[in-house]
Amino acid sequence: MAETNCVVAAVQGMPPTLDAILALGTNMGNRVENIDDAVRRLGADGSIVVVARSELYRTAPWGDTDQDWFVNACVGVQTELSPHELLTRCQAVENDMGRIRTRHWGPRIIDVDILAFRDRQICDAILTVPHPLIAERAFVLVPLKDVAPGLTIGGKTLDAMIGALDASDVTRLR
Ligand code: ADP
Ligand code: MG
Repeated sequence: MAETNCVVAAVQGMPPTLDAILALGTNMGNRVENIDDAVRRLGADGSIVVVARSELYRTAPWGDTDQDWFVNACVGVQTELSPHELLTRCQAVENDMGRIRTRHWGPRIIDVDILAFRDRQICDAILTVPHPLIAERAFVLVPLKDVAPGLTIGGKTLDAMIGALDASDVTRLR
């Protein structure tokens, strides 16, 4: 696999009980059920164990704002899978739940992204870890803080990153 030249930030403060943190998002159908379904499916074959779950958040659409509101959440997982194997499992869950890729950042029944994988820094054509847009997305940072409050990315705390954004569109659902 050809490595690209992109540079990713360093992650510190991953909870020692977690191998990876995933972000989930949905803005179609029964959003709360979709998140629960995705969590169930992630754990289904035993290769991923979900050990931490954030609250659920109702969030405004980002990027392409002409679409319905989202529910976002994060989960902390334990796994012996490699980062690329984990991505493949996440994409299998998306596909099994009937995700159809329309426009970029468009409506989706489920999106499962890898936010962080231990303290790994990965940047190739398929996978960028830590996820490069974490610092720009309150809908990721707020649930991420539930699962890994002491996490820093590029030396910045989650509170510092949240403080630099407008997080008023991210409200707790349950
Ligand atoms: P988005 O999550 O930006 O809305 P997609 O879910 O359609 O878009 O993902 C597009 C591509 O992003 C995937 O095919 C995957 O290879 C790539 N990708 C790169 N880094 C990551 C990551 N950390 N987590 C999930 N997908 C990633
Ligand atoms: Mg995605």
